[in-house]
Formats: sequence, C-alpha cells, structure tokens
Amino acid sequence: MSDLGDRIGERFEWMSGAELAEFQSEALRRSVAQAARSPYYGVRFADLGLKPGDVKTRDDITKLPFTTKEDLRLSYPTGMLTVPPREVVRMHTSSGTTGKPTAIFHTREDVDCWAELMARCLAMAGARSDDIFQNMSGYGLFTGGLGLHYGAERLGMWVIPAGAGNTARQILLIRDFHVTVIHATPSYAMHVAERMVQDGDNPKSLGIRIAALGAEPYTEELRLKLQDLYGFKAFNSYGLSEMNGPGVAFECPEQNGMHIWEDAYLVEIIDPDTLQPVEEGQVGELVMTTLRRAAMPILRYRTRDLTRVIPGECPCGRKHLRMARMVGRSDDMLIVRAVNVFPSQIEEVIMRNKWIGGNYVIHLTKKEALDQMTVKVEIAKAAFDGSIETVRRLRDQLQRELRDQIGFTANVDVLEPGSLPVSEGKAKRVIDERE
Ligand code: ADP
Ligand code: ZN
Repeated sequence: MSDLGDRIGERFEWMSGAELAEFQSEALRRSVAQAARSPYYGVRFADLGLKPGDVKTRDDITKLPFTTKEDLRLSYPTGMLTVPPREVVRMHTSSGTTGKPTAIFHTREDVDCWAELMARCLAMAGARSDDIFQNMSGYGLFTGGLGLHYGAERLGMWVIPAGAGNTARQILLIRDFHVTVIHATPSYAMHVAERMVQDGDNPKSLGIRIAALGAEPYTEELRLKLQDLYGFKAFNSYGLSEMNGPGVAFECPEQNGMHIWEDAYLVEIIDPDTLQPVEEGQVGELVMTTLRRAAMPILRYRTRDLTRVIPGECPCGRKHLRMARMVGRSDDMLIVRAVNVFPSQIEEVIMRNKWIGGNYVIHLTKKEALDQMTVKVEIAKAAFDGSIETVRRLRDQLQRELRDQIGFTANVDVLEPGSLPVSEGKAKRVIDERE
C-alpha cells in the first residue's frame, strides 16, 4: 500500500491555477457568510453596509475590511466566534511576543483541516510514516506544539512530543529512538548543536534527515550553518496563531521560498502605508484570509510580516504561491541613529563568519542622546586559540563587516561560548533599553 505521505496532497496540492482560483472564490463566499455570523463582523459589515452576497469571486476581496491584531484584541475573548460554544473543540492564543494574547477557536473540522495542512507540509519535505518525529517545540497555548503534533500524527509518523527545553534529554531521545525528523526554532536547533560540539559530540551522528525550522525569522546563512552542522535538510516553516499556527506555508524540496496553501488562505501583499497591493515580487505586508475555518474566519488579516511573492513557477510543479523568507515584522525594524536596520541584516553578517557561534544579541542603549548599538556574539570554541590579540582582530573585522552592511559603526562584544542567554522557543535577539 502506498504511504499516506504520497497521497495526502492529492486533492489540493496539484490544482492548476484556474482550479485554485475557482476553489478560492467558492471558499471565500463561504468564509464571508460564516464570518458575518460573528458578533464582531456582524456589526462591522452593518457599519459598512456590506452584505455577504456582495462577495462573489476572490477579486471581490477588496470590498472587505482589513482585520488587525487590535481588532482581535477588541473582540477578545469571543467576539469573533461564529458557532455555538459546544461546537468548539480547541482554542489557542498567540504567544504574545508583542503584547496581550488573542484567542483563536476551532471546531472539529477546523482542527482536522489544520492537521491535513500541516501533514502536507511535512510530506512535501519528504517525511513518511516510517519516520520518527521529535517535536522540540513548547506545547500548550502555543501552536507549535499541538499544530505540528497532529500533523505528524496524521501522516502516521511515530511522534515524540518532547516539548521545549531540556537539551540533554532532547539529544538522548533523538539518539535512542533514531529520530529522523525534528521540529524546532532555528535558534534552539543551533543551541542543541553547539551544546553537542562543546561536549565533543557531533550533531551529524544523530542521523536526522529533515528539520522543520520556523516560528521566528532567520536568514539563509543560519539555515546553511545548521544544515552543515547536522547534515539534515532544513525547511522553512511559517505560520501564526491567527491563521491556525504552523502549516500556513512551508518549503518544498527546492528550498527556495515557502508555498502558501492557497486552498486554505487567500493571500495579498500590500503596502502598509497606502494599503494598496504592491507590484508583483515587491516586498510588502502579508495579508491573509482564512478559507477553510468555520469557528473563527478572519478576513484580510494584517500579519505585520514583511515578505514578497517569488514570481514564476516553482520547478516542483505546485501552483500555490511561493513566499520569500520573511524580512521581519514591520514592528521589528530598528531605527538606530535615524537609520533603518532589520535584525536579519545583522544576522546575515554574523552567520557568514565561521568563527562566531550561533547565538547573538543586539543591545540598544542611549548615551548622551545618541543611540548606541552593541552586537554581542560568542566566539566558537574551535576558533579560540587563547590569544587576546586574536579576539581583538576578529572583533575589529566583524565591526567593519557590520558597518558595510548597516552604514554606521556598532560596538562589538566577543564573548566566551555559552555566555549569552538561550531561549527554548522564540529567540529574543534585540534588547532595547533606549526607553
Ligand atoms: P506572536 O505573534 O505572539 O509571536 P505566534 O506564535 O502566532 O504569536 O507567532 C507568529 C509569528 O511568528 C509570525 O507572525 C511571524 O512574525 C513569526 N514567524 C513564524 N514563522 C516564521 C518564519 N518561518 N520566518 C519568520 N517569521 C516567522
Ligand atoms: Zn515548490
């Protein structure tokens, strides 16, 4: 019998552009009608004089209002719920990286659909039912735990719900159970590798084939470094609680951009200032509408994530849009001495340097009204020869490379391995103490 991994994408994954468009229009009509049942959209539609019937095809999406994180907060706790409470089987909240959480609800069909989307991601990357999967992500309200868990289980993988943290146990489980597929944040995967190297162990000896890495922004340079350390193929995984969680977009074997499952999400990329669509291929804010969620449809959700669509067809044959690596969140951008800097620009430079470990922190302070930026990195154990002169030379070199990238001089601190705080989930890369 063929593996479910070979079949799970059959219904939606290979649709032609025209089939996708037709499915999206139909699903959008359903979603809008469903949304109108919630107290929140009910009032919103009435205010705008909008009737669900006004939306006939996916091009009518522009008739609908945007939904923001603030709208979700205002409708907290259940203002966007469209079904009687007894039909709800699960809720999650966003991890609250940026303020008060927002609650998202799912019916039985919703969690089934989410598991299918997630299973399609893992299958697309090459996972099959004979793989052993370790989920190194926090469980609970955070969607990276149960989201990946149910997707992997749906595929029939042997699932180890290791949860976040406890690095020694993670390594032990991977080794003893011959884990072949993992899910983690890239920063935590880096921490596990460094810990092994520090203990004279080799991450390659674990034999992991596939890693789903996401939940936080990271650069191509960090991916390459991790692939090199572990010998696995790393696939970028994108999602957000408001759109279920993981399972929204994922890389195919081409590892060149993430396919967004367009049967479940209608995608727009807009200019965050004018709210108009950007030219194809330009960077803008990702806006998404749920097409397959009943308990809590969300229309034109402004994710605040900045990305662009990769034009052209993917050699893998899937017509679902490909999205480039996230530039960051619109609210991630740092303004330092009136210069706009994204943490990812700094990470790019850091990860290119083999002598630097995988962890880093950007520390912002003020000195006599002038912004000060200090980039703190750890020297890799293998690169430290005991000489202060070496450290000084490496620091000056990094400072020059950073200046070329960001246009001003940052302070650089080169620290011993293991000096910087480690996060088990999403890494906190920026400490801003400028008030
Ligand atoms: P919170 O918004 O509180 O962090 P979530 O856990 O829902 O809650 O996080 C979703 C956010 O995480 C996304 O909006 C995005 O900013 C970030 N994210 C998730 N996956 C990726 C990824 N692969 N690349 C970059 N950013 C990501
Ligand atoms: Zn592809």
